Amino acid sequence: IKKIGVLTSGGDAPGMNAAIRAVVRTALSYGWEVVGVIDGYSGLHAGNFIQLTRRSVSDLLNRGGTFLGTARFPQFKDPKVREEAVEVMKQNGIDALVVIGGDGSYMGAKFISELGFPCIGLPGTIDNDIAGTDATIGFDTALNTAVEAIDKLRDTCSSHKRISVVEVMGHHCGDLAVCAAVSCGVEAVLVPEVKWDKDEVYASIKRSVDAGKRHAILVVCELQTDVHQMAKDLEALTGLETRATVLGHIQRGGTPSAVDRVLASRMGAYACELLKSGESGRCVALKRGELVHYDIIECINSMKHKFMKTTYDLACSLG
Ligand code: ADP
Repeated sequence: IKKIGVLTSGGDAPGMNAAIRAVVRTALSYGWEVVGVIDGYSGLHAGNFIQLTRRSVSDLLNRGGTFLGTARFPQFKDPKVREEAVEVMKQNGIDALVVIGGDGSYMGAKFISELGFPCIGLPGTIDNDIAGTDATIGFDTALNTAVEAIDKLRDTCSSHKRISVVEVMGHHCGDLAVCAAVSCGVEAVLVPEVKWDKDEVYASIKRSVDAGKRHAILVVCELQTDVHQMAKDLEALTGLETRATVLGHIQRGGTPSAVDRVLASRMGAYACELLKSGESGRCVALKRGELVHYDIIECINSMKHKFMKTTYDLACSLG
Protein backbone atom coordinates (compact mmCIF):
# COMPACT_ATOMS: atom_id res chain seq x y z
CA ILE A 1 0.00 0.00 0.00
CA LYS A 2 1.23 3.47 -0.92
CA LYS A 3 -1.87 5.59 -0.69
CA ILE A 4 -5.27 5.20 1.02
CA GLY A 5 -8.52 7.13 0.92
CA VAL A 6 -10.87 7.83 3.82
CA LEU A 7 -14.51 8.90 3.62
CA THR A 8 -17.51 9.49 5.86
CA SER A 9 -20.93 8.59 4.52
CA GLY A 10 -24.61 8.58 5.49
CA GLY A 11 -25.80 10.25 8.67
CA ASP A 12 -23.03 12.10 10.48
CA ALA A 13 -22.07 11.11 14.01
CA PRO A 14 -19.93 12.78 16.69
CA GLY A 15 -16.52 11.13 16.70
CA MET A 16 -16.21 10.76 12.93
CA ASN A 17 -13.51 13.44 12.93
CA ALA A 18 -11.61 11.59 15.64
CA ALA A 19 -11.75 8.43 13.50
CA ILE A 20 -10.48 10.27 10.39
CA ARG A 21 -7.65 11.78 12.44
CA ALA A 22 -6.61 8.34 13.70
CA VAL A 23 -6.72 6.87 10.18
CA VAL A 24 -4.65 9.74 8.80
CA ARG A 25 -1.98 9.76 11.49
CA THR A 26 -1.63 5.97 11.64
CA ALA A 27 -1.39 5.70 7.85
CA LEU A 28 1.21 8.48 7.70
CA SER A 29 3.24 6.71 10.39
CA TYR A 30 3.36 3.68 8.06
CA GLY A 31 4.71 5.92 5.30
CA TRP A 32 1.46 5.87 3.32
CA GLU A 33 -0.12 8.89 1.66
CA VAL A 34 -3.71 9.70 2.66
CA VAL A 35 -6.44 11.47 0.74
CA GLY A 36 -9.76 12.55 2.22
CA VAL A 37 -12.81 12.01 0.05
CA ILE A 38 -15.26 14.93 0.16
CA ASP A 39 -18.97 14.12 0.71
CA GLY A 40 -18.91 10.33 0.86
CA TYR A 41 -19.56 8.15 -2.17
CA SER A 42 -20.57 11.12 -4.34
CA GLY A 43 -17.07 12.60 -3.89
CA LEU A 44 -15.55 9.19 -4.50
CA HIS A 45 -17.31 8.92 -7.85
CA ALA A 46 -16.47 12.52 -8.77
CA GLY A 47 -12.80 12.19 -7.71
CA ASN A 48 -13.22 14.95 -5.16
CA PHE A 49 -10.14 14.25 -3.04
CA ILE A 50 -7.91 16.33 -0.76
CA GLN A 51 -4.42 15.42 0.33
CA LEU A 52 -4.28 15.01 4.12
CA THR A 53 -1.28 15.67 6.35
CA ARG A 54 -0.79 15.43 10.11
CA ARG A 55 -1.67 19.12 10.30
CA SER A 56 -4.87 18.72 8.25
CA VAL A 57 -6.37 16.80 11.16
CA SER A 58 -5.22 19.09 13.98
CA ASP A 59 -7.89 20.55 16.28
CA LEU A 60 -10.51 18.10 15.07
CA LEU A 61 -10.64 15.57 17.86
CA ASN A 62 -13.18 17.57 19.85
CA ARG A 63 -15.32 18.68 16.91
CA GLY A 64 -18.68 17.11 16.06
CA GLY A 65 -19.80 16.37 12.50
CA THR A 66 -17.28 15.39 9.85
CA PHE A 67 -14.90 17.86 8.27
CA LEU A 68 -14.84 15.76 5.08
CA GLY A 69 -18.57 16.21 4.70
CA THR A 70 -21.07 13.44 4.12
CA ALA A 71 -23.84 12.94 1.60
CA ARG A 72 -26.57 10.62 0.50
CA PHE A 73 -25.68 9.31 -2.94
CA PRO A 74 -28.32 6.78 -4.01
CA GLN A 75 -26.63 6.46 -7.42
CA PHE A 76 -24.08 4.26 -5.66
CA LYS A 77 -26.65 1.45 -5.77
CA ASP A 78 -25.96 1.27 -9.52
CA PRO A 79 -23.16 -1.28 -10.18
CA LYS A 80 -21.85 0.82 -13.08
CA VAL A 81 -21.41 3.86 -10.83
CA ARG A 82 -19.52 1.73 -8.29
CA GLU A 83 -17.20 0.35 -10.97
CA GLU A 84 -16.54 3.91 -12.14
CA ALA A 85 -15.75 4.97 -8.55
CA VAL A 86 -13.24 2.13 -8.16
CA GLU A 87 -11.68 3.16 -11.48
CA VAL A 88 -11.41 6.77 -10.23
CA MET A 89 -9.57 5.53 -7.13
CA LYS A 90 -7.16 3.46 -9.22
CA GLN A 91 -6.50 6.38 -11.56
CA ASN A 92 -5.63 8.50 -8.51
CA GLY A 93 -3.21 5.88 -7.20
CA ILE A 94 -5.42 4.97 -4.24
CA ASP A 95 -4.80 1.36 -3.13
CA ALA A 96 -7.31 1.02 -0.28
CA LEU A 97 -10.31 2.78 1.24
CA VAL A 98 -11.60 3.29 4.79
CA VAL A 99 -15.36 3.95 4.98
CA ILE A 100 -16.85 5.43 8.16
CA GLY A 101 -20.64 5.25 8.25
CA GLY A 102 -23.81 3.38 9.05
CA ASP A 103 -25.41 0.29 7.58
CA GLY A 104 -26.15 1.98 4.24
CA SER A 105 -22.51 3.00 3.93
CA TYR A 106 -21.52 -0.56 4.83
CA MET A 107 -23.52 -1.77 1.80
CA GLY A 108 -21.43 0.51 -0.40
CA ALA A 109 -18.24 -0.76 1.25
CA LYS A 110 -19.37 -4.35 0.75
CA PHE A 111 -19.86 -3.80 -2.97
CA ILE A 112 -16.46 -2.10 -3.29
CA SER A 113 -14.90 -5.12 -1.56
CA GLU A 114 -16.75 -7.47 -3.91
CA LEU A 115 -15.08 -5.64 -6.81
CA GLY A 116 -11.77 -6.75 -5.29
CA PHE A 117 -10.80 -3.31 -4.00
CA PRO A 118 -9.36 -3.32 -0.43
CA CYS A 119 -11.86 -1.65 1.86
CA ILE A 120 -12.36 -1.46 5.64
CA GLY A 121 -15.61 -0.30 7.29
CA LEU A 122 -15.83 1.56 10.60
CA PRO A 123 -19.21 1.81 12.37
CA GLY A 124 -20.09 5.51 12.54
CA THR A 125 -23.70 6.16 13.50
CA ILE A 126 -25.58 7.43 16.54
CA ASP A 127 -28.12 4.62 16.12
CA ASN A 128 -25.92 1.76 17.39
CA ASP A 129 -27.61 -0.48 14.81
CA ILE A 130 -24.60 -2.17 13.22
CA ALA A 131 -24.38 -5.94 13.54
CA GLY A 132 -21.50 -7.46 15.51
CA THR A 133 -20.41 -4.39 17.48
CA ASP A 134 -21.34 -3.50 21.04
CA ALA A 135 -20.97 0.20 20.24
CA THR A 136 -20.80 2.50 17.25
CA ILE A 137 -18.91 5.78 16.99
CA GLY A 138 -21.35 8.53 18.02
CA PHE A 139 -23.77 6.47 20.08
CA ASP A 140 -22.38 7.49 23.48
CA THR A 141 -22.42 11.20 22.61
CA ALA A 142 -25.97 11.02 21.27
CA LEU A 143 -27.04 9.17 24.40
CA ASN A 144 -25.49 11.83 26.64
CA THR A 145 -27.24 14.54 24.63
CA ALA A 146 -30.59 12.78 24.97
CA VAL A 147 -30.07 12.21 28.70
CA GLU A 148 -29.19 15.86 29.29
CA ALA A 149 -32.32 16.97 27.43
CA ILE A 150 -34.60 14.52 29.26
CA ASP A 151 -33.15 15.56 32.64
CA LYS A 152 -34.04 19.16 31.78
CA LEU A 153 -37.54 18.19 30.75
CA ARG A 154 -37.93 16.31 34.03
CA ASP A 155 -37.15 19.45 36.06
CA THR A 156 -39.86 21.47 34.39
CA CYS A 157 -42.33 18.55 34.26
CA SER A 158 -41.97 18.06 37.96
CA SER A 159 -42.43 21.78 38.74
CA HIS A 160 -45.52 22.09 36.55
CA LYS A 161 -47.07 18.65 37.11
CA ARG A 162 -46.71 17.74 33.48
CA ILE A 163 -46.27 14.69 31.30
CA SER A 164 -43.55 14.64 28.68
CA VAL A 165 -43.42 12.40 25.62
CA VAL A 166 -39.87 12.49 24.25
CA GLU A 167 -38.96 11.13 20.82
CA VAL A 168 -35.35 10.04 20.48
CA MET A 169 -33.53 8.90 17.36
CA GLY A 170 -32.30 5.37 16.63
CA HIS A 171 -34.05 4.62 13.34
CA HIS A 172 -35.13 0.96 13.68
CA CYS A 173 -32.93 0.36 16.73
CA GLY A 174 -34.16 0.96 20.29
CA ASP A 175 -30.73 1.11 21.97
CA LEU A 176 -30.68 4.89 22.30
CA ALA A 177 -34.21 4.92 23.75
CA VAL A 178 -33.49 2.04 26.13
CA CYS A 179 -30.24 3.50 27.48
CA ALA A 180 -31.83 6.94 27.84
CA ALA A 181 -34.75 5.33 29.66
CA VAL A 182 -32.49 3.60 32.19
CA SER A 183 -30.34 6.71 32.62
CA CYS A 184 -33.33 8.97 33.24
CA GLY A 185 -35.61 6.56 35.11
CA VAL A 186 -38.60 7.16 32.87
CA GLU A 187 -42.11 5.74 33.20
CA ALA A 188 -42.28 4.08 29.78
CA VAL A 189 -39.99 3.25 26.88
CA LEU A 190 -41.36 2.31 23.46
CA VAL A 191 -39.04 0.63 20.99
CA PRO A 192 -39.45 -1.30 17.73
CA GLU A 193 -37.95 -4.52 19.11
CA VAL A 194 -40.70 -5.01 21.71
CA LYS A 195 -44.35 -5.05 20.75
CA TRP A 196 -46.26 -2.47 22.75
CA ASP A 197 -49.90 -1.70 23.16
CA LYS A 198 -51.05 1.92 23.26
CA ASP A 199 -53.97 1.23 25.61
CA GLU A 200 -51.75 -0.59 28.09
CA VAL A 201 -49.18 2.21 28.05
CA TYR A 202 -51.90 4.83 28.56
CA ALA A 203 -53.49 2.82 31.37
CA SER A 204 -50.19 2.50 33.22
CA ILE A 205 -49.52 6.25 32.97
CA LYS A 206 -53.05 6.95 34.20
CA ARG A 207 -52.51 4.62 37.17
CA SER A 208 -49.29 6.49 38.10
CA VAL A 209 -51.01 9.86 37.86
CA ASP A 210 -54.02 8.63 39.86
CA ALA A 211 -51.61 7.33 42.50
CA GLY A 212 -50.36 10.90 42.91
CA LYS A 213 -47.27 11.05 40.70
CA ARG A 214 -46.47 14.67 39.86
CA HIS A 215 -44.99 13.98 36.47
CA ALA A 216 -44.27 11.25 33.96
CA ILE A 217 -41.83 10.87 31.11
CA LEU A 218 -42.21 8.52 28.16
CA VAL A 219 -39.28 7.87 25.83
CA VAL A 220 -40.31 6.84 22.34
CA CYS A 221 -37.97 5.67 19.59
CA GLU A 222 -38.51 7.50 16.29
CA LEU A 223 -40.83 5.93 13.69
CA GLN A 224 -42.90 4.27 16.45
CA THR A 225 -45.88 6.59 16.62
CA ASP A 226 -46.97 10.22 16.31
CA VAL A 227 -45.72 11.61 19.63
CA HIS A 228 -47.82 14.78 19.23
CA GLN A 229 -50.98 12.69 19.01
CA MET A 230 -49.80 10.60 21.95
CA ALA A 231 -49.39 13.79 24.01
CA LYS A 232 -52.94 14.89 23.14
CA ASP A 233 -54.33 11.47 24.08
CA LEU A 234 -52.51 11.42 27.41
CA GLU A 235 -53.59 14.97 28.27
CA ALA A 236 -57.23 14.07 27.58
CA LEU A 237 -56.94 10.87 29.60
CA THR A 238 -55.09 12.15 32.67
CA GLY A 239 -56.04 15.82 32.78
CA LEU A 240 -52.35 16.70 33.13
CA GLU A 241 -50.79 19.06 30.64
CA THR A 242 -48.73 16.91 28.26
CA ARG A 243 -46.01 18.03 25.86
CA ALA A 244 -44.29 16.18 23.06
CA THR A 245 -40.63 16.92 22.37
CA VAL A 246 -38.82 15.59 19.32
CA LEU A 247 -35.10 15.77 20.09
CA GLY A 248 -34.21 15.25 16.43
CA HIS A 249 -30.87 16.22 14.98
CA ILE A 250 -29.63 17.80 18.20
CA GLN A 251 -28.62 14.22 18.97
CA ARG A 252 -26.40 14.11 15.90
CA GLY A 253 -24.30 17.12 16.77
CA GLY A 254 -22.07 18.39 19.50
CA THR A 255 -18.62 17.69 20.76
CA PRO A 256 -17.95 13.94 20.97
CA SER A 257 -17.82 12.35 24.43
CA ALA A 258 -14.52 10.98 25.69
CA VAL A 259 -15.89 7.45 25.18
CA ASP A 260 -16.56 8.18 21.50
CA ARG A 261 -13.18 9.86 21.03
CA VAL A 262 -11.39 6.84 22.45
CA LEU A 263 -13.49 4.37 20.42
CA ALA A 264 -13.06 6.36 17.19
CA SER A 265 -9.30 6.72 17.71
CA ARG A 266 -8.89 3.01 18.44
CA MET A 267 -10.99 1.99 15.46
CA GLY A 268 -9.29 4.40 13.05
CA ALA A 269 -5.84 3.11 13.97
CA TYR A 270 -7.08 -0.50 13.83
CA ALA A 271 -8.42 -0.01 10.29
CA CYS A 272 -4.89 0.89 9.15
CA GLU A 273 -3.38 -2.04 11.07
CA LEU A 274 -5.77 -4.37 9.24
CA LEU A 275 -4.84 -2.94 5.85
CA LYS A 276 -1.16 -3.20 6.75
CA SER A 277 -1.53 -6.86 7.60
CA GLY A 278 -3.14 -7.47 4.22
CA GLU A 279 -6.77 -7.64 5.34
CA SER A 280 -9.50 -6.34 3.08
CA GLY A 281 -13.28 -6.43 2.96
CA ARG A 282 -13.48 -6.30 6.76
CA CYS A 283 -15.52 -4.23 9.18
CA VAL A 284 -14.31 -3.25 12.62
CA ALA A 285 -16.32 -3.93 15.77
CA LEU A 286 -16.05 -3.63 19.54
CA LYS A 287 -16.66 -6.91 21.35
CA ARG A 288 -16.42 -7.00 25.15
CA GLY A 289 -13.91 -4.14 25.13
CA GLU A 290 -11.67 -5.58 22.41
CA LEU A 291 -11.55 -4.61 18.75
CA VAL A 292 -12.38 -7.42 16.35
CA HIS A 293 -13.08 -7.59 12.63
CA TYR A 294 -15.63 -9.40 10.51
CA ASP A 295 -16.11 -10.10 6.85
CA ILE A 296 -18.14 -7.11 5.70
CA ILE A 297 -20.20 -9.26 3.32
CA GLU A 298 -21.07 -11.65 6.15
CA CYS A 299 -21.85 -8.69 8.44
CA ILE A 300 -24.34 -7.30 5.94
CA ASN A 301 -25.83 -10.57 4.72
CA SER A 302 -26.12 -12.75 7.77
CA MET A 303 -25.37 -10.95 11.03
CA LYS A 304 -27.98 -9.12 13.08
CA HIS A 305 -27.59 -6.39 15.67
CA LYS A 306 -28.44 -7.78 19.09
CA PHE A 307 -31.11 -5.81 20.94
CA MET A 308 -30.30 -4.83 24.55
CA LYS A 309 -33.06 -6.98 26.01
CA THR A 310 -31.76 -7.14 29.59
CA THR A 311 -31.26 -3.38 29.66
CA TYR A 312 -34.77 -2.93 28.27
CA ASP A 313 -36.15 -5.19 31.03
CA LEU A 314 -34.23 -3.13 33.57
CA ALA A 315 -35.73 0.10 32.22
CA CYS A 316 -39.19 -1.42 32.69
CA SER A 317 -38.60 -2.86 36.14
CA LEU A 318 -36.92 0.24 37.58
CA GLY A 319 -39.05 2.85 35.83
P1 ADP B 1 -25.99 5.30 6.75
O1 ADP B 1 -24.66 4.88 6.23
O2 ADP B 1 -25.88 6.29 7.86
O3 ADP B 1 -26.87 4.11 7.07
P2 ADP B 1 -27.48 5.72 4.26
O4 ADP B 1 -28.37 4.54 4.44
O5 ADP B 1 -28.07 6.97 3.73
O6 ADP B 1 -26.72 6.13 5.60
O7 ADP B 1 -26.30 5.28 3.27
C1 ADP B 1 -25.27 6.18 2.96
C2 ADP B 1 -24.86 6.02 1.54
O8 ADP B 1 -24.37 4.69 1.33
C3 ADP B 1 -25.96 6.18 0.51
O9 ADP B 1 -26.26 7.51 0.22
C4 ADP B 1 -25.35 5.47 -0.67
O10 ADP B 1 -24.40 6.28 -1.30
C5 ADP B 1 -24.64 4.29 0.00
N1 ADP B 1 -25.53 3.11 0.00
C6 ADP B 1 -26.61 2.87 0.78
N2 ADP B 1 -27.21 1.72 0.45
C7 ADP B 1 -26.51 1.20 -0.58
C8 ADP B 1 -26.63 0.03 -1.38
N3 ADP B 1 -27.62 -0.84 -1.21
N4 ADP B 1 -25.72 -0.15 -2.36
C9 ADP B 1 -24.72 0.72 -2.56
N5 ADP B 1 -24.56 1.85 -1.85
C10 ADP B 1 -25.43 2.10 -0.88
